Order: sequence, then structure tokens, then C-alpha cells
Amino acid sequence: MKNRIIILIISIIIALIVLGIGLYGLSNTKEDNKDKATNGEIEKSTGIENEFSDISTEESDDEESISEESNSEETDVSEKEETSTSGNDVLVSIVPETSDIDPNKPMVALTYDDGPAGNNTLRILDSLKKYNARATFFVVGYNLDGNEDIIKKIAEQGSEVANHTASHKDLAKLTTEELNYEVNSVADKIKSLTGQKNVLIRPPYGSVNDFVMSSLTEPVILWSIDTEDWKTKNPEATLNHVKATVYDGAIILMHDLHSETADATEMLVEWLTNEGYQIVTVSEMGYYRRGGLQTGVRYGSLQP
Ligand SMILES: [Zn+2]
Repeated sequence: MKNRIIILIISIIIALIVLGIGLYGLSNTKEDNKDKATNGEIEKSTGIENEFSDISTEESDDEESISEESNSEETDVSEKEETSTSGNDVLVSIVPETSDIDPNKPMVALTYDDGPAGNNTLRILDSLKKYNARATFFVVGYNLDGNEDIIKKIAEQGSEVANHTASHKDLAKLTTEELNYEVNSVADKIKSLTGQKNVLIRPPYGSVNDFVMSSLTEPVILWSIDTEDWKTKNPEATLNHVKATVYDGAIILMHDLHSETADATEMLVEWLTNEGYQIVTVSEMGYYRRGGLQTGVRYGSLQP
């Protein structure tokens, strides 16, 4: 009889322990789910990737003068509109099969607009190659014919070819048909020349509105550091501007139309490398910092 009672008590104790473990496990699962849900919300609400610390103006080439109106408009746009307007589809960016990038180390993206520009672009490519660096070239449609070899060379070197539209118009002022032509004609040509699946876009003057943002089917890339290379045309000034303002995740704006920018690049690539920066494409930085870039979002920088 005594033995039976002891066995009964032990059984009850074991049953209670099992029940306790079960309940503890259940409450932990609930906590996990709660955390996941919260993280999801945070990700959603901070879907804004724009940080316009140093956006001012972007000039095109000399022949193409930009009115005061365009410049002020651009500044307005970058200050006002910092939200994601649509789309959460992650576009996995193009990443080389054997990448030498360390995601935990600082990186920057050099970007060159308005080319390709013959020898200047080739000199920039040489400087990049010397330091195992890569850049993103936002090319304009009217400079593509006859420069197909340069476009291919950019891609072969592991750099990125991106879209700066067919004729450098303010996209916010176009009809749907005009907008589609400005964007798609260049994107298609880049894809056929390089084999790239995605072609990032930088709107001329950084000018977009809700209509443009919802129409574009590729991520929009602005910039965080405007070197004003087109204005100073002074390699030291461009270098010093970057030295004074660079940070991990910065997207640096330059223009390969100018020989002074090719001169600046040579110094810049050396300096950035010595400072410990990895010089990568925008898509690479997007991949390592955000897991890819999204449509409907404007990126001014890609900080950790
Ligand atoms: Zn431009």
C-alpha cells in the first residue's frame, strides 16, 4: 500500500514536470512569434532608405545648361519626398560569383553620370582596376551609339552600367509614353550589351514625383555626396570634398565627362583604399547592406 502511494506521488510529480516543460516551451514560441512580428513592422515602417545629407545640385555637360528652375526643383524634391511609394519586392542585385567584399568592413559606391565619355571613362576604368575597385556608371542614351565597347568593358571589369535615361530630361514633367521611352530604351540596350538583369536608374537632376516613382520598375539611386566635380573641375577639390564628407555606405556623385574627374578618380581610389574603404558598385552595396534593392524606394545612401 505504502509503495503504491509513493509510486502515485512520483507519477504526479513527473506529470507536473512534463506539463511545466510543455507550457514553458509554448510561451517561448509565442515570444518568438511576437518578436518576429515586431521586427516585420519595424522593417516596414523604416522602408525609407533615403538620407540626403549632402544633396545639392547635379550638373550635366557644358553644352547642356541647366536652369535655376531645375536646380531649385531638384532640391525641393529631395527634401520633401523621402518615403517609399510602392512595392516591397526585393530585387536581388547582381553580385559577382566570387566576391571579395567583406560586409563588415566600410564600403562606398563611386558613381559617374552622363557618360560614357570615351577616354575619360576608360581612364577611370584603369584607375579602378589598379585597386581592384568597381563603380557604377549612369549612362545617357544619346552617348550610347558608338560607345558599345566601353559599356561592355565596364561590365567585364565587374563595374555596373546603370540608366540615366535616353535624353536627360526632367522625368517629373513627362507623359507616360515619354517616361517609358526615356527609361526603357536605355535599360533594354544596357541589358542586351551587358547581360545585366536589373538596371538601376538615376533620374536626371534627381527629379522624381509620385507618378514617376510608381511608374519606374527599377530601384532609384540618388546620392549622398555631391562632389560638384562639374563645377570646380579641380581634381584636388573633388578629392578634398570626399575626404571631408565620406562615410560608410556613402554614394558619391561624379561625372565622367570631365578629364579632371578622371584625374580625381586616380587619387580618390588610392586614398579610399588606404583608408580601408571597399569601393563597390551600388548593387553590391545594396546586396550586402539591404539584401537587395527595392522598386518604389529612393536610395541616397546605404549605411550599415
Ligand atoms: Zn546627369
